[in-house]
Amino acid sequence: MGYLFGPVLSRRLGLSMGVDLLKYKTCNMDCVYCELGKTACLTSHRGRFVPPEKVLMEISARKNESFDHITFAGSGEPTLCRDLGEIVRKAKEMIDAPVAVITNSTLLVSPGVRREVAAADVVLPSLDAATEGAFRAINRPASGLRIEKIVQGLKDFRKEFCGEIWLEIMLVKGVNDREAELIARAAESTHPDRIQLNTVVRSPAEPVSPLSEEEMQKMLEIFPGAELIPDWDWSVPAKTRERLIDHLSRRPSTLEEICAILELAGSDAIKYCKILERDGLISRRLHGGKLFFHSGCGHQAEIFIS
Ligand code: SF4
Repeated sequence: MGYLFGPVLSRRLGLSMGVDLLKYKTCNMDCVYCELGKTACLTSHRGRFVPPEKVLMEISARKNESFDHITFAGSGEPTLCRDLGEIVRKAKEMIDAPVAVITNSTLLVSPGVRREVAAADVVLPSLDAATEGAFRAINRPASGLRIEKIVQGLKDFRKEFCGEIWLEIMLVKGVNDREAELIARAAESTHPDRIQLNTVVRSPAEPVSPLSEEEMQKMLEIFPGAELIPDWDWSVPAKTRERLIDHLSRRPSTLEEICAILELAGSDAIKYCKILERDGLISRRLHGGKLFFHSGCGHQAEIFIS
């Protein structure tokens, strides 16, 4: 066990059960904004990093848990795993929730990789540059990767894949924001279902800066029809806060119980618990293999919200 993580609360996918098919941190890019830190293994060669049968056993063991998506992401670029297609197909047979793949788009130049990724329901590729110079500055790719070919790979994938494509564009101040118009044109040419704009919100690999909220709003004029990936609204409705604290002071509960008793969606319950934990009003502990929330401060057994 240990190939699944979460469920985590994803800003784009709701409550997401993550699947990690890589060794930390294996990628064919070394993005300046990467929240995983510097790339430890920079490679464009696909390989087997984890035993596929064990991953599938773990998916099977957790298939009845509550989540909005099962998401192939994790310690690097998931398409570098040569078993991705088979695992995605078998996961789909096991679970009801939609399957998502987050990718840096580079290997979509390969028809074989496109076929594997197309087994998912929703694909979240990224595109941060339109020129070779900006591509090298922001993504620091392994040798042999060319931005023009990657854009063509995204276009080819669009023609072959009938599911949802949500294209993410990470904007970093002074690195790629000056060529936003070119990126917008390249992004539109790939015809995704959604274009989602992001900026640096978590600890980046290098000391790079985000765009301000005002600058991100202005980007919407350059990317018409795009959306901003939302930052969390770090507040709990007053009534929910009162009911949650009151309930947990009487009875420690699992996330599922909290959802049922307070009639909350899983993603809301997990977010509210995280906020109340941060405020020192509730805490969590493991008991009998289950995670319970209870009132008052305590030791955090597990961080599971990103
Ligand atoms: S492609 Fe993703 S995992 Fe790889 S370095 Fe960039 S942000 Fe990190």
